[in-house]
Order: sequence, then C-alpha cells, then structure tokens
Amino acid sequence: MRMGKKMKKLKWIKGYILSVLAIVLICFNIGAVTTKHKESTAIELNVKNNYNVLVISSYNEKNIRTTNNIKGLKKYFENKKDYKVNILTEFLDIKNRNDINYIDKFIRLLQVKYEKSPIDYIYTVDYEAFNILKEVVTSKESIFYQTPLIFSGVDTDTALLKSKDEYITGSVFGENIYKLFNLILYLHSNVEKINIILDESKYCNFIKDEINEVVKTHSRDDIELNFIQSNYINEIVEKISADDNALNTVNIIGGEYQYTNNEYLSSETTISVLKKCLYSPIYSIDETYLGKGIVGGYISNQEDIGTNIGKTIDKLINKQTNSINRVVTKQKEKCYIDYESIYEYDINPANLPKGIIVINRSPFELLLPKNIKYIIRLTIVWSILIVSVSFYFNISARVTRRKEKREEKLAKEREKLRSDYIINISHELRTPLNIIMNSIKLIENNIDNKNYVKSKLNNVTRNTNRLLKLVENIIQIQKIDLGVQKLSLDKCNVVEVVEEVFIAIVPYAKEKGIEVIFDTEEEEIISSIDIEKIQRVILNLLSNGIKFSKSYGKIYGNIRQLGKNVIIEIKDEGIGIPKDKLNEIFHRYYQVDSSLSRVNEGAGIGLSIVNDIIELHNGNICVDSNVGEGSRFIIKLPILKTNKQVVNLSERLNPFLNNVEIEMSDVIK
Ligand code: ADP
Repeated sequence: MRMGKKMKKLKWIKGYILSVLAIVLICFNIGAVTTKHKESTAIELNVKNNYNVLVISSYNEKNIRTTNNIKGLKKYFENKKDYKVNILTEFLDIKNRNDINYIDKFIRLLQVKYEKSPIDYIYTVDYEAFNILKEVVTSKESIFYQTPLIFSGVDTDTALLKSKDEYITGSVFGENIYKLFNLILYLHSNVEKINIILDESKYCNFIKDEINEVVKTHSRDDIELNFIQSNYINEIVEKISADDNALNTVNIIGGEYQYTNNEYLSSETTISVLKKCLYSPIYSIDETYLGKGIVGGYISNQEDIGTNIGKTIDKLINKQTNSINRVVTKQKEKCYIDYESIYEYDINPANLPKGIIVINRSPFELLLPKNIKYIIRLTIVWSILIVSVSFYFNISARVTRRKEKREEKLAKEREKLRSDYIINISHELRTPLNIIMNSIKLIENNIDNKNYVKSKLNNVTRNTNRLLKLVENIIQIQKIDLGVQKLSLDKCNVVEVVEEVFIAIVPYAKEKGIEVIFDTEEEEIISSIDIEKIQRVILNLLSNGIKFSKSYGKIYGNIRQLGKNVIIEIKDEGIGIPKDKLNEIFHRYYQVDSSLSRVNEGAGIGLSIVNDIIELHNGNICVDSNVGEGSRFIIKLPILKTNKQVVNLSERLNPFLNNVEIEMSDVIK
C-alpha cells in the first residue's frame, strides 16, 4: 500500500516535471516562431533599400547649371546609410533637335531602357524637361505613369498643378528677375535702356515674359527693353547695334550660345565675345556667368537647389508612399557682385546694397570708391617711397660716415707713420752726423796719433755711408712714388747675380761671427732682370738677416727654377718676426720695433723698396717667420726670355760692390 502510494506520488511528480518541460518547450518554440515571424516582417519592410532616381536635363552633359545641380543632389545622398540612391542622368540636348518626333523617340527610348530597372523618382532640372516629363508621368500608357516627379527651374505658372497630380512636386524660380531689375536701377539710376540677351529656349522665353511683366508693373516702366535673342553667338553680335553701347545702357544675359557649327561656347568665351562689342555692364540671373566677366546679379546656387531636391526625395522615401503632400518651394537667390567689375564699370561701392556677396576679392582689397582707393594707394606708395628714400639716405649717410671714419683713421695712421718716419730719419741722420762731428773733433785733438786718427776716420767713413744709404733709399722711394723708377733689363745668369751678393757680404757676416751658406742645384738660370736692383734686393735681405741675427748664427741662401719662375730663398736664424706683423713689414716706414731705444739701426724703408722692385719685375715676395727661431724670405721672379746677349758679369764694371759697404753701414758697428 505504502509502496503503491509512493509510486503514485512519483508518477505525479514525473507528470508535473514533464508538463513543465513541455510548457517551457512550447513557450520557447512559440518564441522561436514569433521571432522568425518578426524577422520575416522586418525583411519585408526593408526590402526597398535601393532607389533609382532618373534625372532629366534638356541641356547636354556640358551644361554647368545641370552638372552643379546634380552635384548637389548626389552630395545629399552620399552619406545616407539606411538606403542607397542610384542617380541616373539623361540629357535631352533639346536645343539641337527640338521637334516632336525627336522628343517622342527620346521618351520611347527611356521606356525601353528603364523597363527592367524601374525608376522610383524622376527629377527634371529645368523648364523644358519638366514640360515633357509632366506629360509622361500623367499618361496611363507610359511605364512612368504616376512615378513621382520632382522638378526645379520652373516658374510658378508652369508648375501650377492640378489636384490629381499629387505625385508631382518641386521648387520654382525665386524672385531673381524682379530683384535684379531693382538692383540695376539702384546701381545705375540713369539707366534708360536694358539689352536682354537670350537664347531661344523655353526657359529664356520665360525670362523674356517675366522681364516684360516686371517692367510693366514697375514705376520705371519708361525703361526701353531691347531683346536680343538667338541661339547663335554670331547672330547675337550682329543684332547688337551702336546705340546699345550708349552710356545709360545695361545688359542682362541668360541662356547659352553656339557657334554656327552648333558647338557651344563656354560662358567665359560668350562674355569675352560680347564685351568686344558691348561696353556697358552685364548682369545675369544665371550662375554660369558669375565670375566670368559680368558685374553680378541675383543668382540661385544650382548645387543648393540639387541638395534641396535631395531633401524632398528623402522625405518621399521615408514616407514609403508615392503620394506627395505637395508643397512647392521657391528657389532661394543671393546677390553676387564681382569685385573687378565694380571698378571696370565705375560702380560706387558705397551704393552696393547690404547683404551682397562680393566675389573675386582678395583679403587685402578695399571695397572703396575708385578715387578714394586711388588716393589710399597713392598714399601707401608715397609712404613706402618716403620711408625707402629716408632709409636709403640714412644708410648711405651711415656708410659715408663709416667711410669717413675709416679714412680719418687711415689718415691718422699715415700721419703717425709719417711723423714716426721723420723722427726716425732725423734720428738716423743725427746719429751718424754726431759720430762724424765727434770723430773730427777727436782727430783734430789727436792729429799726431796716426793709428787713432785712422780708427776715427773709419768711423767717419762708416757713418758717411750710413748717411749715403739713407739718402739713397729716400731717393729710391721718391722715384717709385712718382712712378719714374724704371727697370733696366739685362739678360743674365740669375744664379751668378745672386751668388755675387752672397760672396760680397761674407766678410761683413764674419765680423759678426755669422756663417753664410749659399746653395743651388742649378748652375745657370737665364732671365732678363735689372741686375743692379735685384742685387740691391738680395743685399737688403742679407743685411737684414745679419742685422737681426745674434752672433754666430747662420744665413742660408738657395736659388732654383720652378716651372717658369726662379725662386730665391734667404733664411736666417735671427730674432724672427711676430706672425701678426708679417704683412706689415713690407709697408713703408714700418719697423717691428720702432722705439728710438731699439737695438738695430734702420729707417724701416728697405723692405718696402724690395717689394716695389720685385713687383716691377712682375714677381712677388713673401715671408715666413717664428719669433726666436728665424725668418725665411722667398722671392718668386718670372723667367723672362729675350733675344739679347747674355751679360758676362765678370767683365762688367760692377757699381754694386761699392754699395755693399754703404748697405752694411748700419749693420756692422
Ligand atoms: P729697417 O731699415 O728697419 O731694417 P726694413 O724695411 O728693411 O727696415 O725692415 C722693416 C722691419 O722688418 C725691420 O725694422 C724689422 O723689424 C723687420 N725685419 C726685416 N727683416 C728681418 C729679419 N730678417 N729678421 C727679423 N726682423 C726683420
């Protein structure tokens, strides 16, 4: 029994669990079914995520207004994520083939072309395209029957829709013409005639009617309207008459133009052709001409129009219906003025109405009347000129002042050198003269002492020589300065010429315990030189070498040929010359130690004469030296070849040897 009860209880629990399981399963199952059902509904709802919009233009694909318009439309749909819009474009190019047959064929072609890829929306960008497509979407036979039609570039009257056309909507022209007319009157109050240049499109005919209407109802209905209308530019030009260029004439242009071969002119070309025969300002309501030479006008931006049409289509898509709650919008227009044209046609910028957009104006250009701008420019130019001139004078005054200062400094330096020189010369003159005077007195007093008299006469001779050397040098310098110092060239063996001087000074060097070594690899180097002057140079360098050497030093000489030059080198082991003085020593009157208390005698003109003589030979001299180690002078003389006879030095009367004693007079004391 107990067992039986227990069994019953278990069965009941089992049944309970099973039924709970079943309920859970059923619930899940139903849930699954419901979810599936929901999914399928969602798919059905999202089935249309790809829309075809057929854009129709009555122009051809080069028409800028159409391309800008489509650009705006495409831009609008570019970033749409929940659906895709394919924009298909067809150009009627109606101007070239405007007959019923052609239009009929075009429509039939469209039907065939889009039969398999149905069009969801049709957008007509202009007047003609709308008129044609309006017929198509209202025709029961057409595959486009009741396809939503959106339009732009149409006037209010044309767009006037019947209540049954509930699938047609779009945007109509703004008040561009009316506003442009007022703008023209505002900027050209004396205007008497307006030329209106148009092509023969329906759109241009509409403009014609509109202008007539505007003027008729305006207080300035006296203005003469001259319509110049043709599709061809040559006909337009022909129709422009002389009085169309009268002072009080203004022009309006619309449409597009062709050459006689039907090729279209670009808007720039159209304006430039017109400007050759029209000298009065041109305005437009057409974006294509803006910035291409016209003054400006009230213009609706085609890209904005395209974007707004995109918004309308977007609204239609989101409503998932073809039925349009028809709100026809007006295209917005803005007033644009070209900066360049303001001045081209003498328009007073002060008269420009508020809110206009000035194009082609660089950030630094002023929007001021021509004369004021001219005055400002003139002022700026003058200011720049004045600043530049004063700057120039300031700079040149400074340069002159600096130059003057430099010259003043140089003059002072020269003056100092000159007075130093005079002091030196006086000193150089006085010292030997004193010695001579003293020696003479001593001789007088000791006239009987033969040896004493002889030694004092030696002093007299040496110091007379010093005086002679000095006078000789002064004469040399004067000659060089006056430019009368000429070379007397002789063809000779330069080695021999130089060697002769080395031999001549040996006894003087010996007196100071200095050894003279002359060395050469060449026996003979033939050139034309002024023998006496070159010997004077060598002698001067050697006497300096001895003069500025301590006792028991050495003096080396070397001569060699190097290419087309002869190189003469004289080296001593004397006191040397400080590096910063190396260039100075060749200057006149310069002495490294110019103090009157200096050890060595000399007037500081020997090396300047040396330099002048070498330069007269077209050669050069340089020096290298280290203080305490000695100096090395290097002469470079170009070898000069002549047909003359080589001078035999040993046969020649040598006036130079007499000079050695004189030259050495301030060396050996
Ligand atoms: P000076 O009659 O004074 O010797 P120079 O024109 O011959 O005139 O030389 C100019 C100066 O150059 C000398 O006063 C001396 O200071 C320096 N000088 C020339 N030759 C030597 C040399 N061999 N060693 C050292 N100093 C020299």
